[in-house]
Amino acid sequence: MKNDLTGDSFEARGKRKKLVDDLRKKGISDEEVLRAIGTVPRHVFMDPAFLNHAYIDKAFPITSGQTISQPYTVAVMTALLKVKRRDKILEIGTGSGYQAAILAEMGARVYTIERFRELYLKAQVTLASLGYAADFFYDDGYEGKPHYGPFDGIIITAAASEIPGVLLKQLKTGGRLVVPVDEGGAQVMTVVQRKGENDFDYSSHGYFVFVPMLRGTVNK
Ligand code: SAH
Repeated sequence: MKNDLTGDSFEARGKRKKLVDDLRKKGISDEEVLRAIGTVPRHVFMDPAFLNHAYIDKAFPITSGQTISQPYTVAVMTALLKVKRRDKILEIGTGSGYQAAILAEMGARVYTIERFRELYLKAQVTLASLGYAADFFYDDGYEGKPHYGPFDGIIITAAASEIPGVLLKQLKTGGRLVVPVDEGGAQVMTVVQRKGENDFDYSSHGYFVFVPMLRGTVNK
């Protein structure tokens, strides 16, 4: 975190440390991911009604009927992306902006797309208040951002009914797409690594629950 304009407290820091310990116990071992989660003040991204729960390892409602992902889920997905500093990462589903902030804290160049205008606007204010830079787009993420690619990584933080082929084409060779793919109500965390022009490697990493990835934008 570069600036501290948000009243990050001794208490919040203590709770974050405890959250990091919890994530370690749940099997998260990527030290850079743990450091980022221990640094980004999740309470700043929460709806005021849930402020006291910011460092509990659970998903919570935000505006527009969406959710801020569970820290464990953020940790798993970020570790699967294998982010390196200066990597160009495209996120689909900005939501609260928490995942984008984690990526920015890890030194990634972040491009993030949200289909709800209100969330798109709010997340920009939140990240700016913390001193994190990212490029925000109010758009349908299904098309990706071909003009800004190719990307080292693409992360979809909503449940996709299938893997969008147009996004695979926006990966660099060696790049990775992390996406929860719907399978009868729950989602299989899937990693697709681009090995060559038309050569993709698929792997599965357990079941998670997400809000759906939907088409089009919502002007509210
Ligand atoms: N990464 C977020 C989690 C948000 S929940 C966080 O850290 O808080 C998923 C988000 O994906 C929702 O805000 C939802 O509106 C958005 N979304 C769903 N389908 C989308 C699409 N096609 N394009 C862009 N955003 C989408």
